[in-house]
Amino acid sequence: MPNGNGKTILTNSAITAFKACPRKYYWRYIREVEAVERPEALLLGTALHGYLEAHYRQLPYTPPIDLTPKSQAILKGVREYYPILYMDDLDLFEPIAVEKIISGEIRNPVSGRPAREYVYGGKVDGLVMLKKDAEGFKENDLLLLEHKSASKVDEAYFERLQLDSQLLLYSLYLSRELGAHIAGTLFNVIQKPSLRQKKSESEAEYYQRLRLEMNWPELYHRRYLRFPEMRMQEIQKELWSAKNIIAKARLENVFTMNSGACFDYHRKCDYWTLCSSEDPEMILEGGQFQHQEAHVELIGAAEGNQAETAAEPF
Ligand code: SF4
Repeated sequence: MPNGNGKTILTNSAITAFKACPRKYYWRYIREVEAVERPEALLLGTALHGYLEAHYRQLPYTPPIDLTPKSQAILKGVREYYPILYMDDLDLFEPIAVEKIISGEIRNPVSGRPAREYVYGGKVDGLVMLKKDAEGFKENDLLLLEHKSASKVDEAYFERLQLDSQLLLYSLYLSRELGAHIAGTLFNVIQKPSLRQKKSESEAEYYQRLRLEMNWPELYHRRYLRFPEMRMQEIQKELWSAKNIIAKARLENVFTMNSGACFDYHRKCDYWTLCSSEDPEMILEGGQFQHQEAHVELIGAAEGNQAETAAEPF
């Protein structure tokens, strides 16, 4: 999807897809198709994000109707407990922006000149200003507020986030746009319960247990993170390099398959049916896939940003 200036947008999701498998990038960002059936974990993650967005905008929230009863129970538990657990957020920080769209030039790290045909785009969950000193950060520091949901949350999970290129780029582009330093990130992680249905319990009892499990503080994690300055500098080179590689593939129209990624995350890639078919065009007409704008999340954010200025501290 080109932006208003006719340039191609590169988001972190697009770059990640290309790095994992160029053919995946092709299906999603050139052909703009996605599987009709979405993985449940993705649907729940999106629903949790939607709830947190409404919470921080102080707007009513309507849960999606396409969730399984299990995910509905988890979401219900989060909606019950999150506002209680974090009722003091108002004393800690002021939300400056919620679901903020960001975009900007991709600059040559040596010459500083912007790429002619590509721009960077993304959407930040939130930007907050601290109202008091916290965890090594000072009052009035600006922090990204980043919501995550995960099945397993341990030290390694947070250590990995320290090198997360998406957050580094968000900080970089927000700093440029606002002309202000982004001091770090406040991670807000919701851990999904690992409970399984017991033989002795009904489905209703199981869903009730899941809901109540989300009323335990142990499943809610917060962590403050400051990015190493060296990584901030490196990330600009990495973005330029990724842009060059993707531009070359697009120019030559060659998107190689990485079969090593076909079963990542313990599941078959959404595009397996297309890649393994002798006639993918026929598969595309079969109803298993649908057209989806390449960066649909930015379209939604652009609309949401109109309300952003009206977002009040909660
Ligand atoms: S099925 Fe494999 S080759 Fe095809 S897009 Fe997915 S990861 Fe790439």
